[in-house]
Amino acid sequence: MIDPQTRAAVEAVPVQALLPPRAQARAETLDGRPAIMDVLDLGFDSVGSHALVCVVGVSSSSGNRLLVVPGVMRDGRFMRDPSVASLLHAGKFGSFTVSIMGEGIPVGSVQALDVDQSNDSVIIDDAVMVKWQLDAVESPAPQRLLSLAGTGLTPDLRALVRWRSSDGTECTVLTAADYLAGAQDGWTWAVELVRAHALGGAVDAIEPFAVLGEMAARMHLAFVASDGSASSAIEHWGRAAVARVHAECRADLDEAVRLIDGEEGARLRVRRDAIAARMDSLAEVDSTPIIDIHGDFHIGQVLRLPDGTGYRYAFVDFDGNPVLSPEERMRRQPAARDVAGMLASIDHVARVVNFRTEGLDPRPAVIWIPHAQDAFLAAYQGALASVGQRSLLDERLLQPLMLDQECREFVYSARPLPHWRYVPDAVLTEMFPDEGDR
Ligand code: ADP
Ligand code: MG
Repeated sequence: MIDPQTRAAVEAVPVQALLPPRAQARAETLDGRPAIMDVLDLGFDSVGSHALVCVVGVSSSSGNRLLVVPGVMRDGRFMRDPSVASLLHAGKFGSFTVSIMGEGIPVGSVQALDVDQSNDSVIIDDAVMVKWQLDAVESPAPQRLLSLAGTGLTPDLRALVRWRSSDGTECTVLTAADYLAGAQDGWTWAVELVRAHALGGAVDAIEPFAVLGEMAARMHLAFVASDGSASSAIEHWGRAAVARVHAECRADLDEAVRLIDGEEGARLRVRRDAIAARMDSLAEVDSTPIIDIHGDFHIGQVLRLPDGTGYRYAFVDFDGNPVLSPEERMRRQPAARDVAGMLASIDHVARVVNFRTEGLDPRPAVIWIPHAQDAFLAAYQGALASVGQRSLLDERLLQPLMLDQECREFVYSARPLPHWRYVPDAVLTEMFPDEGDR
C-alpha cells in the first residue's frame, strides 16, 4: 500500500525533475504524468526528512518506462536525492530485496561523478560508489558481481537492491561497491601509456595487457565456477544459435554500410565482401561453449589505480552491452565475445593515440597493436590452460566477432558519437589493405 500523501507528492513532481540532472537533457521523449508503482520506505534521515526509493511509471516515445527514483519528502514535497542509499538496511521489504555486504554504505558527503555514465552514480563519503539504475530493468550485474566476490577482479560489493516487478522480473535498482579513489579508466591510462610508448618513452606498454588477459580468464573461470557445473557440463550453442550470431554479424555489416557515407563509407563498401567472407567462417562452427560474460568488455571498463610501486586493475560495469535489450543482456554467450571486445579495444587505443596526438609518427602505435593483443590473448589462454579449461575459448569465433565489433562501432558512430567513425575506419582499412581505396 502506498500512502496517499506520498503518492500525491511524488506524482506532483514534473517527470524531468524525477531524473538525475545529467539525464534531464535527454528526457524530451518522456511525457505524461508519472504514476508511482511501488515504494521502499527507508525511514527518516538525520534532518527528519522521510527517505524513499520509488519505482515510477512514465510513458515515453519508446514505450512505458519504470524509473528508479530515490528521494526524500520534505515539507510535503518530494525531491530526488541519491544520498538516501546510506539509510538502506538488509532484508526483504515487499517486492524489494536489499543486500548489504562488508561495511555497507556509510553516511557522508555526496559527490557527483564527473565522467561519462548512463546511470546515476554518486560517491558517498569518498568511500563508496553508489549506482542507482535509471530504469528498473533486468540486469546481469548483480549475479555477475556476486560471482566475482572475493576475487579482487572488481571493486568489492557494498550493497545490492533488487525489485520484483508484477510480472516476476527481477530488476536491479542499485549496486554499490568500494570507490577506488584515484582510479582512471582505460581511455585515459591506456591512451597515455601508448602515447608515451609511441613517443619513445621508457615505458612497458605490453605487460599491462598480459595482466588484463590473465584477469579476464580469471573472471570467466569465476563465472563458470559460480555456476557450479564441471567443465563437461558447460552449456553449448548448437548450429542454429551460431547461425543466429552469424546473421547478426552480417546484419551489423549491412547496417554499417547503409549508415556510413563519405570517404569512410567508400572504404567500407570496397571491403564489404572481404569482411563478409571472414564472418562466414562462422558457418563451419556447429557447437561452441557459452558462459556468463562481462558483455561490454572494452578498455573503458578497466580501471587502473596506483598500488605500491605499481598498479592495480579492476573491471567495472557488468550491465552488459547497452545496445541489447535487457533480456538479451542476460543470456550466456561465448567467452570469445569478451575477448574479441578487448582485442578490438586495444586496437582502438592506438587509433585514438594517433588521432589525438598532433605530429606523431603513426607507425609505433600501429606496430604496438598486435604485440599488445598477443600478450593479452596468450595470457588469457595460458590462464585457462593452467586449470585445464583451454576449451572455454573457441578461437574460431574471434575474428568474426572482432569484425562485428568494428561494424557495431560504425553503427554507434553514426548516431551518438559521429567523430568516432575514424576508429573502425582505420582498423578495417588496415586489416584489408589489398582492396585499395578505389
Ligand atoms: P554506467 O553504466 O553509468 O556507465 P559504470 O559502472 O560504467 O556506470 O561507471 C561509470 C564510470 O565510473 C566508470 O567508467 C569509471 O570511470 C567510474 N567508476 C565505476 N565504478 C567505480 C569505482 N568502484 N571506483 C572508481 N570509479 C568507478
Ligand atoms: Mg560504463
